[in-house]
Parts: sequence; C-alpha cells; structure tokens
Amino acid sequence: MPITFKRSWTDPDLDQYRDTVVRFIEEHMAPDDAAARKRGHVGHDLWCRAGETGLLCTDIPVEWGGAGGDFRHEAVFYEEMARRGLTGMNASVHAIVAHYLLNHGTGDQKQRYLPRMASGELVGAIAMTEPGTGSDLQGIRAHAERDGPGWRINGAKTFISNGMLAGLVLVVVKTDPGQAARGTSIFIVETKNCPGYRVGPLLDKMGLKAQDTSELFFDDVRVGPRQLLGGREGQGFLQLMADLPYERLLIGVTALAAMEGAYQSTLSYVRERKAFGQPIAQFQNTRFKLAEIATEIQVGRAFVDRCVEDLVAGRLDTATASMAKLWGSEAQGRVVDACVQLFGGYGYMNEYLVARMYTDARVQRIYGGTSEIMKEVISRAL
Ligand SMILES: Cc1cc2nc3c(=O)[nH]c(=O)nc-3n(C[C@H](O)[C@H](O)[C@H](O)COP(=O)(O)OP(=O)(O)OC[C@H]3O[C@@H](n4cnc5c(N)ncnc54)[C@H](O)[C@@H]3O)c2cc1C
Repeated sequence: MPITFKRSWTDPDLDQYRDTVVRFIEEHMAPDDAAARKRGHVGHDLWCRAGETGLLCTDIPVEWGGAGGDFRHEAVFYEEMARRGLTGMNASVHAIVAHYLLNHGTGDQKQRYLPRMASGELVGAIAMTEPGTGSDLQGIRAHAERDGPGWRINGAKTFISNGMLAGLVLVVVKTDPGQAARGTSIFIVETKNCPGYRVGPLLDKMGLKAQDTSELFFDDVRVGPRQLLGGREGQGFLQLMADLPYERLLIGVTALAAMEGAYQSTLSYVRERKAFGQPIAQFQNTRFKLAEIATEIQVGRAFVDRCVEDLVAGRLDTATASMAKLWGSEAQGRVVDACVQLFGGYGYMNEYLVARMYTDARVQRIYGGTSEIMKEVISRAL
C-alpha cells in the first residue's frame, strides 16, 4: 500500500469542498502563477473570484457574510495552494484580519467590513512591523494622536503582506506612547481615497514572488471613532495576543501541506530520472531520504491534526500552536532542502516546483513570529 497522508479532521462534506477548492485553483490560480510571479502580485480580480466561489471568510458566521464553516475550511484552501507551491494569494492574512474584526470588532464594524471581505471586494492586511522593530512589538513608533472626535495616524510600516492590494488595513499604533502594551491600539483604515495613506513599491523578496509585500506610510491619516477596533483605546495588545493560536496554526498547516507537495513531486521525479543506468529512486540514499521525509510528514501530521481539532473545539493554547509553527516551519525547511538535493541541478531551476518551494519556505521561520520567538513563548509555558 503506498503511503498516503490522511487528515484525521476531514469528512465527506469537507472532501467535497476540497474538490471545489482544487477546481478553482487549477482553473484560476495555477495557470497565472508564472505571470503573477513576474508581476509581483496576483491581482484583485483573483480575490473577487475567490470570494464569488465562496473561498474567503469560510469560518466567519453567515450573519456577517461568511460561509459559517470552521477552521478546517480555511485549512483546506491553504493546504491546496501550499501543496502546489501557489503562494501569491495571502488568504491567511486576510482570514486573520477577518478574525480580528469578528472577535474584537463592534457590531457596526463587523457589518461594515466582513461581508466585503468575504466577497473579495476588500483585501485585508495587518500592519504591525516597522523598519525599526518587528519581534519587539511593544517598541513600535507609529502613533495616533487625538484630533477632535477622532485621531491622526503617523508612521511607517514595512513587510506588509497584501500591502499593495489591501483595501482594509488594521494598523497597530501607540495611542499612549508613555505606556507599553496598554498604550497600543488597532485602527481600521480603508485605503481607497484615503488622504495621507501611501503604499511603497513592491519589496523585492528572495521568494513568495507572486505575493505583494510593501511598505505602508501614514502621514496625518484621519480616522474616526468608528475606526478604532472594538471602540476602546489601549486594547490593541490584548486583541493581538488573543488570536495567536489561530495565526500560528495557519503556518503549521501550510508547512505540512508544502512538505507533502514537495515529497510527491520528488517521488515522481526520482522514478523518472536515471543515473548510472538506473532510476535514482533505486539508490539506497534516495530511498532512505524519502523514507525519512515520509516519516517526518506522518509524525508532523499527527500533531498538526490534533492542533486543528483542538482549535475547532476552542481549546488550542498559544504555546502548543507555537510548537506547530516552530516545528512545522523548521521541518518544511529541512524537507524542501532534501527534495532540492534529490532533483540535482534541476532543483535549483525556478521552472521546477521544488526550487520555488525552497525560496518560498525560508520566510515561514521568520514571519508570524520567528522561530526564536516561538521558543521564547514555549519556554514560558514549561
Ligand atoms: C515576506 C514577509 C511578510 C511579512 N508580513 C507581515 C505582515 O503582513 N504584517 C506585519 O506586521 N509584519 C509582517 N512581516 C514581518 C515579520 O513578522 C517580521 O519580519 C518578524 O516578526 C521579525 O521581525 P524583524 O524582521 O524586525 O526581525 P528582528 O525582530 O529584528 O529579529 C532579528 C533576529 O533577532 C532574533 N530575535 C529578536 N528578538 C529575540 C529574542 N527575544 N530572543 C532571541 N532572538 C531574538 C530574531 O529571531 C531574528 O533572528 C513579514 C515579513 C516578511 C519577510
């Protein structure tokens, strides 16, 4: 029996949904990937098509315009993209933004933004990182000063995923620079026709070539009371902390799916490619490497699947989710590197999936909290 990587959390309805996702990806995403990598973004149309097909905000309740599913529906979409090395559409950041609105937004904020995010009209981004600070989020300099009934935002953010296409940005700022965590708030900025808001040029990254990542500039951007997430100042840090398990597990899920995709692609290649008169699949080294990779995926799957079930049941804690992010992203790096080696020189050519997966994988250990920060978080729970 060939090894397969079964998910413990799937069911016939989710399998059917997965078929819809795969059809969408094969029809709308895969054919455009090479062009999107050259352009540096997937284009807003793709987001609207994904919205029309019902692939966005799948775990947001129907009353707010979502599909009323749960985390597993989101996972299916990210898995099928990651398995194929399609990293242009950062639907996970979009989902994270939707969850901030769902979990912390006022009724008015949910009503105003969530249906438009589900349709793809508004692409979501979250702007925390600044040129001077990333891991140490309490050190941010962007700030909002009182201005009549509202505020004026000033500051610069960098490395923002979906930065160019974003119609809605959650901006993390200081509302009281004298205080650390308690002085932090999150504002909802609609970017269209927004005076003082500017997007820098697309950043030139080593990988994720089809994903738009930009600097964002806020120069006296005026926001009203309706744009303060949750309606109360000083809640930003608590709001950010509350959603960490969701964000970190997303990265663990995509890491596992990318490993599966790299493994499948390598398995096919080594059976075709010949050296010294035989398929390279027959060398003991090749068989052992693939055996190690398949084992690593199975072991990782057991853990990540348990995390998925725990998240759906509402009992996944931040330290365990951080383990999924840490282990998944590190394992992805090891596995994709081993796969490139088995492809030989072709593994270094961008035309090949494993080459693209190799450069795309590197950032998984950096964004969403670096591996070192994951270890800090886990060690605090020891
Ligand atoms: C492609 C991409 C997309 C991104 N998308 C977004 C986004 O959408 N929104 C957003 O806000 N940000 C985003 N980021 C930013 C990302 O989250 C940060 O780059 C990351 O958190 C690290 O911050 P930094 O780059 O400032 O590194 P630093 O914080 O300067 O860290 C540098 C090194 O020091 C280590 N270090 C820092 N503190 C400690 C410590 N306490 N103990 C041990 N080691 C430590 C780090 O682990 C790292 O190795 C993105 C980044 C990239 C590359």
